[in-house]
Amino acid sequence: MPNLTLNRLTGRNVIRGCWLALVATAWLAAAPAGPVFRAGADRTDVTPELGVVIVGNFVTPASTHVHDPLYARTLVLDDGTTRVAFVLVDNVGLPRFVCDAAKQLIREKTGLGPAQVLIASTHTHSAGSARDRVGGGTDEIRDGFEGGAPVLGPYQQFLATRIADSVRNAIQRLEPAKIGWGAGSEPTQVFNRRWHVKSEELRRNPFGGTDAVRMNPPTANKDELVKPAGPTDPEIVFLSVQALNGRPLAVLANYSLHYVGGTMAGAISADYFGVFAERLRELLGGDAAAAPFVGIMSNGTSGDVNNIDFRGRGTPAAPYEKMRRVGNAVAAEVYRAYQGVVHVPWVKLEARLEEVRLATRRPSAEQIAYAEARLAPTAGKAWHPNEKLYSRHVLRAAAGPAEVNVPVQAIRVGEVGVAALPIETFAEIGLELKAKAPLKKAFTISIANGAYGYMPTPAQHQLGGYESWLGTNRVEPEASVKLTARLLAMWEEMK
Ligand SMILES: [Zn+2]
Repeated sequence: MPNLTLNRLTGRNVIRGCWLALVATAWLAAAPAGPVFRAGADRTDVTPELGVVIVGNFVTPASTHVHDPLYARTLVLDDGTTRVAFVLVDNVGLPRFVCDAAKQLIREKTGLGPAQVLIASTHTHSAGSARDRVGGGTDEIRDGFEGGAPVLGPYQQFLATRIADSVRNAIQRLEPAKIGWGAGSEPTQVFNRRWHVKSEELRRNPFGGTDAVRMNPPTANKDELVKPAGPTDPEIVFLSVQALNGRPLAVLANYSLHYVGGTMAGAISADYFGVFAERLRELLGGDAAAAPFVGIMSNGTSGDVNNIDFRGRGTPAAPYEKMRRVGNAVAAEVYRAYQGVVHVPWVKLEARLEEVRLATRRPSAEQIAYAEARLAPTAGKAWHPNEKLYSRHVLRAAAGPAEVNVPVQAIRVGEVGVAALPIETFAEIGLELKAKAPLKKAFTISIANGAYGYMPTPAQHQLGGYESWLGTNRVEPEASVKLTARLLAMWEEMK
């Protein structure tokens, strides 16, 4: 009996030993040589309740209906060592303290630090306000200039939570993936919106003076139009991730177009950014039963670029018609370029976040005196239709801080460099970053990690126009030179 037991045990051990050896051999054969690259994507609804005010224009109406929902769209990449998250939120501009609140939640729930998380606004002009404390319908912009840690209003808190939820969802969906990048061009949908125009009256500014250029000139008289004041960037750059079997997981695209607009009054809409995402999902046909494909459009450097063909402007389009046309055209171009993308099994990831100290725009004594005079009950006929609003901006800037810390972020995804600026950046700044980037391909995501108004170049400041006005522009005229130099250095360090 003891022998039999021994034999039986030995036999069983032999069988188990063989089985373990087989498993080990099979595992070793399947194991990749290096670290595994993984990707996960998500979209989470961030549509506000009706009544929250819509911001993006000079009037801020309360929302009365939802045309199409708003989302936080997230792509998480993981190279086995470093993990980064890109979150694009359908909003005109999340103030820094909302982004910081979301990043704090993300750190608590996932361990992912703020440098590894990019939170940017798409810049749709038909989303709920995340600017003021309670979404109460003011034009007061709370963007971190005031300092301190403000208490979040209900919609701001909801946004921060949902952004963190979206990152958590994307992390939960991480799977082994291949990654690639591509680039296309759509020059027919971008127009520089700053123009040299003949009449001085068209170039009046709200500070009692006259500029050299005019934003969005009226086009009834085409003879007024001399030439655009700057270039456009028609390129669409994108990152693409696929499951190991080739199933599309997500595309993160970047196009330098401000927004399209053309919504009905009171409507919530994600603008062409939402149309693009839906159209690309249709074209790439992701398998919704597995992990739903997520198309994501980020805003490039579009501070001076919109969708209005000033010279060829014809009859107005029906509501939503234009944004559909633009979203479909851009998705079609990405789909075309997608066919040539080479997806590779692994790329290196790296992310950095730094603060750059900038001076703020300060009004002169003369500007303050003019603003006070225009706000007085005795003020006569207006020189400019928005002079009261800008007079308030002048007085607020005079009382505000003299300097501000602005976050800049650089992310490397293999041979692609991503820059992130918390500001509405002019096209030529993005073109310069692309031209000088020490990586094979580069693009810039604007209005990321905060919203600090517009950033023209120093030369564009000289021309004047809406984007240079104190209040619309809040950081020093040399800001673009300083931030560009810093971003190029950050890319250089991670090359
Ligand atoms: Zn804007």
